[in-house]
Amino acid sequence: MTRAELEEMFLEFGEPRYRADQVFRAIHQRRLRAFDEMTDLPKKLRQKLAAEADIERLTVTSRYVSEDGTRRYLMRTVDQRPVETVFIPSEGRDTICFSSQAGCPLKCDFCLTAKLGLLRSLTAGEIVEQILIVLNDVYGVAAETPHGTNLVGMGAGEPFLNFDELIKAVRIMGEPDGLHIVPNRITISTAGIVPRIRDLALLPDRPHLAISLTAANDELRDRLMPINRKYPINELMSAAKEFEASLRRGERFTFEYVMLGGVNDSDRDADRLAELLDRFQLSRVKVNLIPHNGADQLDYAASTPERVAAFKQRLGSKGVDAYVRTPRGRDIFAACGQLAAKAI
Ligand code: SAH
Repeated sequence: MTRAELEEMFLEFGEPRYRADQVFRAIHQRRLRAFDEMTDLPKKLRQKLAAEADIERLTVTSRYVSEDGTRRYLMRTVDQRPVETVFIPSEGRDTICFSSQAGCPLKCDFCLTAKLGLLRSLTAGEIVEQILIVLNDVYGVAAETPHGTNLVGMGAGEPFLNFDELIKAVRIMGEPDGLHIVPNRITISTAGIVPRIRDLALLPDRPHLAISLTAANDELRDRLMPINRKYPINELMSAAKEFEASLRRGERFTFEYVMLGGVNDSDRDADRLAELLDRFQLSRVKVNLIPHNGADQLDYAASTPERVAAFKQRLGSKGVDAYVRTPRGRDIFAACGQLAAKAI
């Protein structure tokens, strides 16, 4: 519930408005997990809330810790859908990667989540709750978080096929007396749902954008990411161009490119990619090269580190900034493309 929805609920209960503030803070700032713990509320009200409302809608069923410190959480919704969330620590900064859907309807050929198909989209509450659960696990219930938390909407699902709930979650998480994770600390990744890229561009106070490209020509992208048949590269690039016009001072947006050995990693591919990006101000875009993370069910190999380095170099020689991402939590199936509700 947003703050306004909570207020409405308390008004219906015949309670004063400040109860909404108390409960909002208890859930999102103190991260309490039961009404009974809210001892600043009258006992009667706590009982009424417990009878008529829920805070906990997700249950952690497994938790894995990687040798690199990454944590992967496998959770279930009340209707038994799987939700996965990843905590990625790195020098004084935390990143939480959350899921927007249980499973995913897109059929990207190199992604394990795709094999699940779409089970359903998550509610705003289920999106926010992933963050509450992870922060409580890492730092303890009600404990302060020692440094800022960045969020990436790069877990299971296509966030832009769940746009309204996603944005509602972003608003709730940004509240100063709640989690207070502002949109500027959030990046949403899309496989290229063109109309929603335009919607995001129009949104005041919006999160950052990453676009998963992975192929620089339609023939290959049609094959790797079938959503390209609906929104081909040209349309994607014109939406991206509109998005570029909405960037704030110093802001950049990202193209992600999964490096698939012998498939999209030649110098020729790098040249095509640089050519595609030529329409943008090169100070406004960057490319994240993601080494492919394998799984038994996937037919692709990762590009060799030498190939990735040469590809990056080639982009750089044309003025395109590219960064090679280090996979995190591969040993626990927590890396990009590996979330598939799989118990290890
Ligand atoms: N559906 C959104 C959100 C998922 S983000 C999107 O496609 O952007 C997950 C990122 O991981 C995407 O950039 C995706 O292309 C990438 N990815 C998928 N499978 C992968 C794999 N096996 N190895 C590395 N990256 C992968």
